[in-house]
Amino acid sequence: MDFSGSKMQLLTVTEFNEQEAELTRAQSKQLNCKGCGKQTPNLFQYDLCRDCLNQTFKRLIKVIDSIRK
Ligand SMILES: [Zn+2]
Repeated sequence: MDFSGSKMQLLTVTEFNEQEAELTRAQSKQLNCKGCGKQTPNLFQYDLCRDCLNQTFKRLIKVIDSIRK
């Protein structure tokens, strides 16, 4: 199976989220994750904490792979 395409997509999304995280950190306040409701100073894309974002990435990889088949 060829995962190289999926990896490239994922890296692009991750880099974008690092920029989002920097912006969120600069505000330095507690925010609630929209996924699990946990309070965290670092919310990422879609108002998700890192754990929830990882779950989203796992789903995203499955979607990308299914599209590529
Ligand atoms: Zn969460």
